Amino acid sequence: MRRIGPRLQPDPWGNWMTRPTVKQWLANYQKPSIRVTHATLEQRDDEEGPFRRKCPVCPDGLLLVGRDQKTLRILATDHCIVCGQRVEYTDEAIDGWPVQR
Ligand SMILES: [Zn+2]
Repeated sequence: MRRIGPRLQPDPWGNWMTRPTVKQWLANYQKPSIRVTHATLEQRDDEEGPFRRKCPVCPDGLLLVGRDQKTLRILATDHCIVCGQRVEYTDEAIDGWPVQR
């Protein structure tokens, strides 16, 4: 996996982020959900497809984007598979699929 360099930017709680460490594993799972717009999130270089996006709060994180098993609508809530940060998408639709609230 390509190492993404250190990014110095404050997270949504005003803390300055540094390089990822083992401590980041699910470190944000208990933090409050943040509202994000899927359309503005960056795509990771090693991921293709219309749904998967970089986590907005940790350097190596990934949002997979879930789907309701019955309706196939996109689920509005998701979480990062690395840091566990929970997010809520503000988009009306993602890649043409309506977002379920
Ligand atoms: Zn993350």
